[in-house]
Amino acid sequence: MEIRSEPEQVSDVLIIGGGLAGLCSAIHLSGKGLSVVVIEKEAYPRHKVCGEYVSNETLPYLNSLGIDPFELGAVSIDQLDFSVPGGNSLKTSLPLGGFGISRYTLDHALCERAAAKGAKIVLDQVEKIDFVKDMFHIITKKRKTYSSLFVIGAYGKRSILDKKLDREFISKKSSYVAVKAHYKGFFPENLVGLYNFEGGYCGVSNIEGRKLNVCYIVDYRVFQKYKSIDRFQEEMLKSNNDLSDVLETSEIVFEKPLSISQISFDSKELLVNHVLMCGDSAGLIHPLCGNGMGMAIGAARLVSDSILSYFNGKLKTREEVEKQYVQQWNKSFRSRLRTGHALALLLRNYKTTSILLPFLRSFPSVLRRIISATHGKPALGI
Ligand SMILES: Cc1cc2nc3c(=O)[nH]c(=O)nc-3n(C[C@H](O)[C@H](O)[C@H](O)COP(=O)(O)OP(=O)(O)OC[C@H]3O[C@@H](n4cnc5c(N)ncnc54)[C@H](O)[C@@H]3O)c2cc1C
Repeated sequence: MEIRSEPEQVSDVLIIGGGLAGLCSAIHLSGKGLSVVVIEKEAYPRHKVCGEYVSNETLPYLNSLGIDPFELGAVSIDQLDFSVPGGNSLKTSLPLGGFGISRYTLDHALCERAAAKGAKIVLDQVEKIDFVKDMFHIITKKRKTYSSLFVIGAYGKRSILDKKLDREFISKKSSYVAVKAHYKGFFPENLVGLYNFEGGYCGVSNIEGRKLNVCYIVDYRVFQKYKSIDRFQEEMLKSNNDLSDVLETSEIVFEKPLSISQISFDSKELLVNHVLMCGDSAGLIHPLCGNGMGMAIGAARLVSDSILSYFNGKLKTREEVEKQYVQQWNKSFRSRLRTGHALALLLRNYKTTSILLPFLRSFPSVLRRIISATHGKPALGI
């Protein structure tokens, strides 16, 4: 164990990562009177590779945390347009619907809300987590030490911490690349477009400020043949006519698209050395389902409720907190993840997708049931 100095701060809860899962937990817990430290490595506001379509199932909880996405300019979305190269397509209404808002705006608003509720937001990167005598000791890149009774791991899909914690998924190769940019252009306001091409999918939807989010995920083996994002977009994305129309009639507002790689959909442990994993750190649903943010926000509620039960005496030990969180997480998300993965595997090949589309067009209720299976009921407010 390595504790270099007196801790900067001792708190009830320390949260690693200030994305959606981390910040919602911070607002919830500090709002109930706990001392909370959030350590986030990137300054706000910042753009993030994400489709930026958020399911309405998050609304009651977000509202109860004091966040109204529509006041921030979110655009309401209730229709899905799905198509494959060659022109086959279908349109359906979304059972629950959602809204489009950039992570730039949403995460920043959550951060400000968490700070207003009393959470301490620290700009630094967690490098080491020690758990000794029932307390956590966290060491950061700036060589600061923080101690806390509970730690929530909300540091996203992939981090150096996963290697340090020796998590199984990190040793497996993962072959997905994702790219996102904002554009100025016309796209029906209440629609999310999901456009298939060989090896991947591209989502298109409106966000605040009359901008479009264009975000795609693709198998690296397909992507690498094109050697650059420009060439890939010019030659592959435009194999889908709907996507070609969007790209031809829109203008990028970013200097260049953002990209990430090594995205893993493998299952992950929810508890690692007593760290309660939350959001993408606990498991990532395929973006095709458009509900990773819903899961991250929903998991924030579950982890916060379990920790609060300890502080109000309903749960007596750390083990009880861990057990309750794991049970509730599995009950809420395990089957969604399975359906999401099965769907992504089934639709991986656009030729299979082309065969399935006419069937789904004839039986729209089947498609709506599949969509519902990857989403949950609205989480209640606090
Ligand atoms: C291509 C793509 C498209 C997607 N589209 C959608 C969509 O349209 N709708 C939807 O609902 N979901 C979508 N998702 C999923 C969604 O983006 C995630 O599920 C969501 O961001 C998870 O939130 P989180 O808080 O768990 O993680 P994040 O939002 O990733 O936050 C983690 C934070 O931790 C910080 N961090 C990491 N390591 C450290 C460290 N060591 N110390 C301190 N800080 C650290 C990071 O900087 C980051 O801010 C998409 C995902 C991908 C890949």
